[in-house]
Amino acid sequence: MVVVMELNSSDPEICQVKDRLDRLGYSCHIIRGVERVVVAAVGDAQPGELSGLESMPGVKKIVPIMQPFKLASRECQPEDTVVEVAGVTIGGGSIAVMAGPCAVEGREQLLQTARAVKSAGARILRGGAFKPRTSPYSFQGLEEEGLKILAAAREATGLPVVTEVINPEEVVLVSHYADILQIGARNMQNYALLRRVGQARRPVLLKRGPAATIDEWLMAAEYIMAHGNPQVILCERGIRGFDSYTRNTLDLSAVPVVKQLSHLPVVVDPSHGTGKWRLVGPMARAAVAAGCDGLMIEVHHSPAEAWSDGPQSLTPDRFSRLMEELRPLAKAINRKIEGESDGAGGA
Ligand code: PEP
Ligand code: MN
Repeated sequence: MVVVMELNSSDPEICQVKDRLDRLGYSCHIIRGVERVVVAAVGDAQPGELSGLESMPGVKKIVPIMQPFKLASRECQPEDTVVEVAGVTIGGGSIAVMAGPCAVEGREQLLQTARAVKSAGARILRGGAFKPRTSPYSFQGLEEEGLKILAAAREATGLPVVTEVINPEEVVLVSHYADILQIGARNMQNYALLRRVGQARRPVLLKRGPAATIDEWLMAAEYIMAHGNPQVILCERGIRGFDSYTRNTLDLSAVPVVKQLSHLPVVVDPSHGTGKWRLVGPMARAAVAAGCDGLMIEVHHSPAEAWSDGPQSLTPDRFSRLMEELRPLAKAINRKIEGESDGAGGA
C-alpha cells in the first residue's frame, strides 16, 4: 500500500508514519515526487492493524497497490522515474542513446568506437567485459582488463559506461568501474544477483529475459528496488518467438504496456532484438515512435571481424546515419535526443 501524505506534511509527520509502519513489520520507502510524498509500505497487513493510521497528522489517504509489483508500479509512484548518470538523464522525456561494441576487445577498438558513437550523438558507452555466451567455447570477455579499458574510454570521451555483471560476487568490482550495471537477459531471474545489485549504489539496466512475461520482468525490477536501489532502467531486447528469421521477437508493445504499469524508464535494444544489422534502424525508429526512453545499439568499426555479435552490429557510419533519422522522429512526438537541444543536429 501507499500512504499518501498531505502536500504540506512535515518531515516529522512523515517519519512518524514510517516509524509506525516499521514497527508493524513493513518495509518502507519514502518517495518524494513533485506533486506528493508517499510512504510506500510493503508487507502483509493484519486485520485492524492499520486502524488509526489514516487519522495520523499529515496523512491524506491510504491506497492499496493491486499489482504484484509494488515499488515498481505506477500506482505507487505516478511520476516517471528519471535516472541520472554523470549529467545524462534516462527517462523524463528525452531519448538517451547507449552505443558501443557487444564486447570490449581491446583498448584501440573501444576508444575508436567510443569516439565515433559520441560524435554521432550517443550519450552512454556500452561494452561487455563479462560475456554470458550461449556456448562455453565462445569468447567470454576480457573481464577486469575489459573494465579498465571501459574506464579509460570514459576518461577519454566523458561518456559514462554501462556494462554487464553476471556474478553476485563481482558486483562490487564492476561497480568500481561502471556507471550503470547491466543485468543480462539470461540473468533476469538470478535472484541472488538482483539482490546484490539492489544493494549497489549504481543504476541498474535490467534486460527482459528471453521468455519472461512483463509481470515477471517487473517483479525482477521489484527485487532490485526492494533491496534498496530505486534506480532501475528496463530494457526490452526481444523475446523467444517461433520465427527464426530474426534472432528474437522484439516486443515493442511492451514499451507502452510497461509505461502504463510502471514509472521506470524503458530502453529498447534492437540489436539483440533482431540479430541483423539491416533491421536495427527500422526497429530503433519504431521504438522511438512507441515511446521508449532510450536505445541500446551495438556498433563495431569492422563488424565482419567482431569477436561477438558482428552480424547485428552497425558500422560507425551507419550508426551516425541512424541518429540523423531519429532526430526528426523524436521531434515529431515532442521529444528530443538526450543531450541535444530541440531540433539540434549532431553532438
Ligand atoms: C548484451 O547486451 O551484451 C547482451 C548480452 O544482451 P542480452 O543479455 O540481451 O542477450
Ligand atoms: Mn551482443
